[in-house]
Amino acid sequence: MRQGLIFDVQRFSLHDGPGLRTLIFFKGCPLSCWWCSNPESHHGCQEIMFDARRCKGCGVCVAACPSGALTRDSKGNFIYRPEICRLCGACAEACPEEARRLVGRWVTVEGLMLEVERDVPFFRRSGGGVTLGGGEPTSQPEFALDLLKACQERGINTAMETSGYAPWKVISELSRHLDYILFDIKHIDPVQHKRLTGVSNLRILDNLGKLCRVHARVVPRYPLIPGCNDGEADILAMARYIKAQGHVEKVEVIPYHRYGELKYEMLSRKYRLAELAIPDSEMVARACELIRSQGLACEASALSMLSLSRKRGENILRD
Ligand code: SF4
Ligand code: SF4
Repeated sequence: MRQGLIFDVQRFSLHDGPGLRTLIFFKGCPLSCWWCSNPESHHGCQEIMFDARRCKGCGVCVAACPSGALTRDSKGNFIYRPEICRLCGACAEACPEEARRLVGRWVTVEGLMLEVERDVPFFRRSGGGVTLGGGEPTSQPEFALDLLKACQERGINTAMETSGYAPWKVISELSRHLDYILFDIKHIDPVQHKRLTGVSNLRILDNLGKLCRVHARVVPRYPLIPGCNDGEADILAMARYIKAQGHVEKVEVIPYHRYGELKYEMLSRKYRLAELAIPDSEMVARACELIRSQGLACEASALSMLSLSRKRGENILRD
């Protein structure tokens, strides 16, 4: 039975496709965007996360470790050796504070569908469905395909968030089983794209063009990252490229946020944008206007705008 590696299932999302969505987060991504809020998705394997703020120092995890991957030095500091860790999860299971966590769960399509089917009544009432995200769903193409087919067999609406960095054959095959596609454009310039994400955008732009010609519901998404891709010329060039590809439903602007920053610490990785401020609503509105000026429908991500408003002490629900 084919298995896939996921790291989360999130129910009742309102922001990743129409209606109420159940999001399935795939593990593994070929990109490494500086602003990524899901660093635990990057590697296509299980890994251990450690939250030092929760840890009470009891040492139960060290005693539970069967491989010697987790030890303490003479000062009581933890030493973790990933190269000999068996990823058995014993330390996470033993920890009374949930300070250690094994990230990544192997699942079968059948097992995952049992979880998803709980939400079918909500999908029916709201016009929602399942959205594959991550990480990058195309990094596990066979599993993604089987999952989409299983959703369709049950009449469940399907969507996918993708970086578009995959062979066209994979994207084309998956698109036949998708009702809605959220397609990231992170920078229009190939050199800047490589600097900020680790890969060139040539394949991504090419795939977007092909996809727009064969699928009616493609929504390009632009993460707005101050100092990285918020220049007027870059936004206009990106919008012109999208417009030239033919029909897209709309463009969504996703303002930069810092939700994932703590997770970098928990994975002992460096967060590269630690000093970067989130964009204010004027900056977001300006980006949307530039995109609309090229004849495209555009809106800012509702989730990010809510968080921006909260940070600024506004209440957009009241207003
Ligand atoms: S996952 Fe298993 S082997 Fe790895 S540190 Fe935890 S207990 Fe040790
Ligand atoms: S078991 Fe949990 S709380 Fe205790 S030392 Fe290990 S990580 Fe910290």
